[in-house]
Amino acid sequence: YAHPPKVEIATTAPDDAIMLFSGSDFSHWTSDKGKAVGWKLIGDTMKISPRSGNLITKRNFTDFKMHLEFKVPQMPANVKGQGRGNSGVYIQQRYELQILDSYGLELQKNDCASMYKTKAPDKNVCRMPEQWQSYDIIFHAAKFEGNEKRENARITVWHNGVLVHNDYEIPNKTGAGQKEGPEPGPIKLQDHGNEVSFRNIWIVPL
Ligand code: MG
Repeated sequence: YAHPPKVEIATTAPDDAIMLFSGSDFSHWTSDKGKAVGWKLIGDTMKISPRSGNLITKRNFTDFKMHLEFKVPQMPANVKGQGRGNSGVYIQQRYELQILDSYGLELQKNDCASMYKTKAPDKNVCRMPEQWQSYDIIFHAAKFEGNEKRENARITVWHNGVLVHNDYEIPNKTGAGQKEGPEPGPIKLQDHGNEVSFRNIWIVPL
């Protein structure tokens, strides 16, 4: 598992996609604390300025298809576990698809591509730090009648082009995620204190 498969995937956004980040600006993003965006723009990428805060999309989403690319930094050998290149994609601010340096590990429920503390990915296809990786996500929001949940949220994730969650029912919000509810929500990118980079982020509401 230290030699993940090489898969070429289409990274071109379809015509109906909303380009959430194409390299030029943070116009689709805001800080989740109402502060100015403190992340850096470098070339066609955005990079976390540690402890400047999480970013959330200005728009809210319900069901969608999404693509994003990320790169975790090479951390010193004495930094362990959840301190290694930690970030995450919080769907509707409720469910975290973890980002971490989990290269070559036997994956646990808090490793890269896990639904945080809920389900490990079906395979470890993590690349080494400092290499670009991708997530392709299809998400269906939980369904509510009033404030009563009738159906769980469902997620399908391809990590580096390989299916790692196949229409998985997410039983509840994950970790520090916000409480489930009938309202749509933004996509949050987590500042966990590490210099994780992102590029080519697009979404298609379904
Ligand atoms: Mg995280």
